[in-house]
Amino acid sequence: FQEPKPLNLKDYIREVPDFPKPGILFYDISTLIRSADAWQVATGRLARIISAWQPDILAGIESRGFLTAAPLAQRLGCGFTMLRKPGKLPGKTISLKYGLEYGEDELHIQEDAIKSGQRVVVLDDLLATGGTLAASVNLLRKVGAEVVGASVLIELAALKGREKLDIPLNSLITYE
Ligand code: AMP
Repeated sequence: FQEPKPLNLKDYIREVPDFPKPGILFYDISTLIRSADAWQVATGRLARIISAWQPDILAGIESRGFLTAAPLAQRLGCGFTMLRKPGKLPGKTISLKYGLEYGEDELHIQEDAIKSGQRVVVLDDLLATGGTLAASVNLLRKVGAEVVGASVLIELAALKGREKLDIPLNSLITYE
């Protein structure tokens, strides 16, 4: 894959102050995915990195993790599976609660989503404290996955989320 032209992905991220609540600076990827050139460059870079981990399945975290995981799974010849908020997945699910900055959240996966030992890469849009990705890795292990890597578009390095993970993590864009 040839990149169409040199391009700085950070130029395509919109920073929205006080969203979804006062004091939060929200890194909006809408402006990245609506640019055909930037989105092609971003997904091309992700494909190169993720294919090196030789995954069988890409797992996307609801909902912005789906945006990268689903098209990349098709491109790399992998399956795609969803980690979802409570009450969304039919059939028997396995869940994990995890702490957020304020309060807690919960993710579910279908109990038969992964065959034992399948190599899984987990994707989200952004790594902040790392709580969401660390919980996702644990949940995937509960259903038998060998989690071989994690991938995000954006990493907020100052929050040291990377230190919560015991697998390789790749990010395309870093904010200090
Ligand atoms: P964390 O569990 O703290 O690593 O938070 C990561 C999750 O929260 C990801 O699913 C992100 O989509 C979302 N998130 C956290 N902080 C931000 C932020 N500043 N801008 C955009 N999304 C965020």
